[in-house]
Amino acid sequence: MKITVLSGGVGGARFTRGLQAALRTRLPDGSGGTTADVTVVANVGDDMWLHGVRVCPDLDTLMYTLGGGVHEEQGWGRRDETRRTSDDLAAYGLGWEWFTLGDLDLATHLARTELLSSGLPLSAVTERLCERWKPGVRLLPATDHEVETHVQTADGLIHFEEWWVRHRAALPALGFVQVGLDDAVPAPGVLAALTDADLVVIPPSNPVVSVGTILTLPGVRDAIRSARGSVVGVSPIVGGAPVRGMADACLTAIGVETSAEAVARHYGRRDSGGLLDAWLVDDADAATAATLRDEGWRTAATDTLMVDVPAATHVAATALDLATRA
Ligand code: GDP
Ligand code: CA
Repeated sequence: MKITVLSGGVGGARFTRGLQAALRTRLPDGSGGTTADVTVVANVGDDMWLHGVRVCPDLDTLMYTLGGGVHEEQGWGRRDETRRTSDDLAAYGLGWEWFTLGDLDLATHLARTELLSSGLPLSAVTERLCERWKPGVRLLPATDHEVETHVQTADGLIHFEEWWVRHRAALPALGFVQVGLDDAVPAPGVLAALTDADLVVIPPSNPVVSVGTILTLPGVRDAIRSARGSVVGVSPIVGGAPVRGMADACLTAIGVETSAEAVARHYGRRDSGGLLDAWLVDDADAATAATLRDEGWRTAATDTLMVDVPAATHVAATALDLATRA
């Protein structure tokens, strides 16, 4: 059984950790006992150069979460983290005061940058970093190219992280641009991981700047559309609001309402040119599930709040059930 997940940072990582736990106890085809191969295709649109090092926030959130090193409450970064280096850099008036690099986290960026400088592509570098973290999945950056999301504001383009972290997404966004997309192709293995998957999962990740950025890469949409397995999505929007973060500002910028229903329609149904075969929403959106079901969607509602690993396991197990229900 091959499962491929298209992930951003915290939402995708928590879901994937739940998926691993759900798979440990059973498989959706009912065979039980054996484990599935999980590939995670990670967004790289949030990546940036800072102090001369390559920072890949979503890859790192996945690696730390699945590898047991994440700061649980925060959802990203390392547990037991300190910030001496970035505080000291600030004394030189360097860097951005709104973006802190933890000391332990910085070691990851230094290691990544050294490996990139030796000529390895990001996918190979990520594989090397995962030798340490052993995330239990094959972790693939969506592309080896530098494709960075920038936000179109009234004052011009700014890097996504500046808009998200510094401005808390409060500066009105007129749209998103993937800088570097023109020459980019998916990383080796990405398209095959989609077409050959028995199941493709779009977890509760940001539909615009996480999943949406992966979907802009050439061939990715077609690979999902032609995937031999089914495609199940879990709504990141609960009761008309994001669970954490400012996905509502991202959706507004692309003209999509902040609701579980609108995000489902934005992804679309695979039998009518979209991406999804099934859509899992929160209990708060049970009425949405009913509406979509009346139109022929395969949907279900459950508690989708991933407050801890057992809760995330329940979400993943329910998504697996929904995906394999005839
Ligand atoms: P980021 O890169 O760290 O922003 O993380 P992702 O793109 O993977 O996920 C962000 C999205 O996940 C946000 O839109 C949240 O609303 C959603 N999300 C986070 N936690 C949960 C949760 O527990 N349940 C659900 N349904 N969505 C969640
Ligand atoms: Ca992210």
